[in-house]
Amino acid sequence: MAKKKRKDKIRERIKKRRRQEREEKREYVRYKCIECGIEEEVPKDVVEMFDILDSGDISVPPRFDCVECGGVMEPIKYKGVHGITYRLE
Ligand SMILES: [Zn+2]
Repeated sequence: MAKKKRKDKIRERIKKRRRQEREEKREYVRYKCIECGIEEEVPKDVVEMFDILDSGDISVPPRFDCVECGGVMEPIKYKGVHGITYRLE
């Protein structure tokens, strides 16, 4: 039992370190609200997840709701999972 516990601890530590590494390497995509102009950094993996899940029109980048005004936020520059680079005009 004691052996198993120690293993779990090590595994926990490895997991923690991996998580930290991931955080450090995390890339962000800068989003801008087209209504109020506020800018926000969204982790790229989150954007990509939305991009993959959003099976709709691929000519439109993944969008988020603005926390300030409820408007639409679009990426200023983002290369999507479909190979399309979106740019906010
Ligand atoms: Zn806004």
